[in-house]
Amino acid sequence: MSNEKFGTVGCAALDQDGNLAAGTSTGGMTNKKYGRIGDSPIIGAGTYANNKTCAISATGHGEYFIRGVVAYDISALMEYQGISLEQAAKRVIQKKLTDMGGTGGIIGIDNKGNMVMEFNTPGMFRASKTMKGETLIKMYED
Ligand code: ASP
Repeated sequence: MSNEKFGTVGCAALDQDGNLAAGTSTGGMTNKKYGRIGDSPIIGAGTYANNKTCAISATGHGEYFIRGVVAYDISALMEYQGISLEQAAKRVIQKKLTDMGGTGGIIGIDNKGNMVMEFNTPGMFRASKTMKGETLIKMYED
């Protein structure tokens, strides 16, 4: 599992009017069965945005993200428990997804502009940019 590579490109954004949006594009899993649909196009699983909470785009072993309704779960934790995006993302990726045996991660932004990039794999190619132009590009853990 540790050297699995995912070809997904995802984005999560907050605009100046407070609108959140997320998008995810993927070729799916290597050697996937013909006709398989992963989590990427399933709203709530691999992609989700809600102006009340956050925008999330996921990459990883899609079946687990579908089963865990991962992107929505992060939003729901924020909405119902009032916890931060960072806390919610950590709980879902590092605890729930990991306990299920799923690998992958998410990028996310909340309605205040706080960003998270949480994953349980050795690396996840990722980048972010703020309104001020502050840019971050990373591949592996910090
Ligand atoms: N999540 C995608 C899928 O399961 C794979 C990926 O992240 O590249 O189809």
